[in-house]
Amino acid sequence: MKYRDARHYLGGRFVEGGPRFLDVHNPADGSVLARVPMGDRPTVDAAVEAATRAFPAWSGTTIKDRVQVFYRYKALLERHIKELGALITEEHGKIAPEAEAEILKAIELTEFACSLPQLAAGEALEVSRGVECRLERVPLGVVAAINPFNFPSMVPHWTIPNAIALGNTFIMKPSEQVPLSAARIADLLKEAGLPDGVFNIVHGDREVVEAICDHPRIQAVTFVGSTRVAKAVYSRSTGNFKRALCLGGAKNHIIVMPDADPEMAAGGVLAAMAGCTGQRCMAASIMVAVNGTDHIVDRLAAQARTMVVGRDVGPVISRAARERIEGYITEAEQAGARVLVDGRGATVPGREGGWYVGPTVIDQVRPDMKLAQEEVFGPVLAIVRIGTLDEAIAVENASPYGNAASIFTESGGAARSALDRASAGMLGVNVGVPVPREPFGFGGWNDSRFGVGDITGRSSIEFWTKSRKITTKWNREAGVNWMSK
Ligand code: NAD
Repeated sequence: MKYRDARHYLGGRFVEGGPRFLDVHNPADGSVLARVPMGDRPTVDAAVEAATRAFPAWSGTTIKDRVQVFYRYKALLERHIKELGALITEEHGKIAPEAEAEILKAIELTEFACSLPQLAAGEALEVSRGVECRLERVPLGVVAAINPFNFPSMVPHWTIPNAIALGNTFIMKPSEQVPLSAARIADLLKEAGLPDGVFNIVHGDREVVEAICDHPRIQAVTFVGSTRVAKAVYSRSTGNFKRALCLGGAKNHIIVMPDADPEMAAGGVLAAMAGCTGQRCMAASIMVAVNGTDHIVDRLAAQARTMVVGRDVGPVISRAARERIEGYITEAEQAGARVLVDGRGATVPGREGGWYVGPTVIDQVRPDMKLAQEEVFGPVLAIVRIGTLDEAIAVENASPYGNAASIFTESGGAARSALDRASAGMLGVNVGVPVPREPFGFGGWNDSRFGVGDITGRSSIEFWTKSRKITTKWNREAGVNWMSK
């Protein structure tokens, strides 16, 4: 095997796991890269123990000192971007530019954490003569984050820098499908000067997740993954009186109006559909094409045909994912949809063991088809033909999800109307993947997010801290009581 087995990281030390292991594959050729240990409740107990021991000293350090770690960490991410990107490509499969973009985003998230002393400074006001009220932000204690497979580095960085800079000690549960990048995060945080026990890793699957949700000393849990599991983690964590924020799956609609710039619309929708092989919660999976957009559909399909699998589009995560995605295509075809560009059966010479699906464009999809309603999580674009903007909005609104939606148009009025009526938390105008950049927070609506607030940006300050309100009076001459003028 190319790598040694992944190990838990507890109290600043890598620890062998077992007895159960899973293989970690390189999706580009199907080879086994390493094994990942499946932790259990005692592993979670050990991580909580280590994080609890580290909490008093770390939370007792000033925030200005805590963020110094992240200034150094950012420089390390920049220095190691090629190597970190290459590791993501191996364990996840995504092509090199996409893997490096993950690290660039991790750097931006770390920069935001460095600004937290300014943003989380608290508030003070003389509320009556000689009486001061002040609000201070206090870390929660031991917190945990459960991550999905599709971004082995970026999604973990949605939580690690902010939660830790705000004074919490942290347990990360990576996806068992992509567990290798986590160890490099631990190495670099240590090199940046993070004290042992502040950051811990427990590998595993459902048993570890449930142990995190149940553990009485874990104060807050974030989850990013599918809606089914997001709901389960949210109800179990909050049922155990924890703070929880759980991001789920998505089905993102892009409305294309006939007046849209053809180059911008075709290129934007295609990149949003095929980028990261469609394995992102911000992927465009339905194009709602309003009457008069045939020229844009033709252009998009022609461009999709020129994409080279293995070079422009990486593999999907597993054989099971490939079968599921191809199943959706076949089912839509059998239900009467027209496959314009067919990515089924894609192979890459020399990498026949890889799990590839090429960019796929399917026209004449009806809103009641499974392909139009369920998350596919692959490079598949369903095109729904529709008469008017109002009907297009109705299709978008009917989805139980609400992560993202976009409109391509040259009309400000049409754009504003779509922005006002779309039922999604992240919206775009002539932007296929409307991911808000820092300091704007990331978070959808409806079945794409359970809990209050966004996972990044300013609302993460609210999530990772509790507030302390202090009323003080020292001057006995001033004011009669705290309500006096
Ligand atoms: P997943 O739900 O299968 O797994 C996510 C995490 O939950 C993993 O760490 C996994 O070990 C754990 N898990 C899996 N099954 C579990 C169970 N039954 N009980 C407890 N824990 C369990 O998701 P995935 O396949 O890794 O990731 C893809 C999904 O994540 C897609 O639905 C995608 O839309 C979503 N996603 C959402 C966002 C967002 O911001 N909304 C971002 C990235 C990914």
